[in-house]
Amino acid sequence: MSKQRVIFCDFDGTITVNDNIVAIMKHFQPEGWDTLVNQVISKEITIREGVGRMFALLPTSRRQEVIDYAIGNVTIRSGFRELLDYSKQEDILFLVTSGGIDFFVYPVLSSFAIPKENIYCNASDFSGTHIHIFWPHSCDAECDNDCGMCKTRIIRSYPRETYERIMIGDSVTDFAGAKLADTVFARSHLIELCQELGLNYYPFEDFHDVIKRLEEMKVREL
Ligand SMILES: [Mg+2]
Ligand SMILES: [Zn+2]
Repeated sequence: MSKQRVIFCDFDGTITVNDNIVAIMKHFQPEGWDTLVNQVISKEITIREGVGRMFALLPTSRRQEVIDYAIGNVTIRSGFRELLDYSKQEDILFLVTSGGIDFFVYPVLSSFAIPKENIYCNASDFSGTHIHIFWPHSCDAECDNDCGMCKTRIIRSYPRETYERIMIGDSVTDFAGAKLADTVFARSHLIELCQELGLNYYPFEDFHDVIKRLEEMKVREL
């Protein structure tokens, strides 16, 4: 019997053309955000710590502005709706695994037919003076990356004995997950990382490329 196929799809820079957290910070320019970005890049602090501290710089008095900007700024990569349709037609489970935050991830995806329980992202609380991020899907005992939203934890919960695991992503935050996947679709920095480690991957520009490749894989298996 063939395995159930499951897609783990990144959000920022993959489903959306832009990186939403960076866009929000660049737009609102809270004092000290750029230092935090550099510390994340140089691995002085973890992604979870960096993202949490960056949002903590933004006062909740600007709540609506921040939300409106984040949602209004998004461009969806071409072929996304078609990939969702294709996944449904082919009985592929489609999951969004995002290091983004609920207040922009859910509204942006609300015009697509994705059940809420199939979307994994970080959460936010606007009840204090500054935006507080919390982490419903943080790392388990098997991951010590301090990811924030731990993609490998989600992927590992779909064991390879039962599932054919397909990962779509663009950056360093997708790399650990890519190592666990049967098939990787990569853009941008994730391509370089896959090349360095000799991982099997398919480069893609938009989701039409992904559909085309999935079709070819199907033919190959027959
Ligand atoms: Mg990304
Ligand atoms: Zn982790």
